[in-house]
Amino acid sequence: MITAIEKKIAAGQPLDRRDALFLLSDVDLLTLGKLADAVRRRMHPQGCVSFVVDRNVNYTNICTTKCKFCAFYRDEMHPDAYLLSYTQIANLC
Ligand code: SF4
Repeated sequence: MITAIEKKIAAGQPLDRRDALFLLSDVDLLTLGKLADAVRRRMHPQGCVSFVVDRNVNYTNICTTKCKFCAFYRDEMHPDAYLLSYTQIANLC
C-alpha cells in the first residue's frame, strides 16, 4: 500500500481516507517525514521551508478537576501554584 501512496504523492494526486489511516497507523515516522518532504519539494521546488511557531500558554496550574493521572495541576493554596497576570502573559510572547 505504501508504494501506491508514494505513486499518488509523486503524481500530485490527493490521498483518500484509507491512505491517511494507513499512514497514521502503519507507517514509521521517518517514512512519513520523507513523504511529507516529497510533497513540500513538489509544492516549493525553490527549496522554501517554513514552520509554524505555536504557543500554548499555561497561565495557571490551578485546577479543581484533579484528574488522577495529572502531575501538572496544583490546588490554589499549594506553594507551587501559580496564576500569571495579563502582563506576565504578554511578556511571554
Ligand atoms: S489534566 Fe490536570 S490540569 Fe487538566 S483538567 Fe485534569 S487535573 Fe486539571
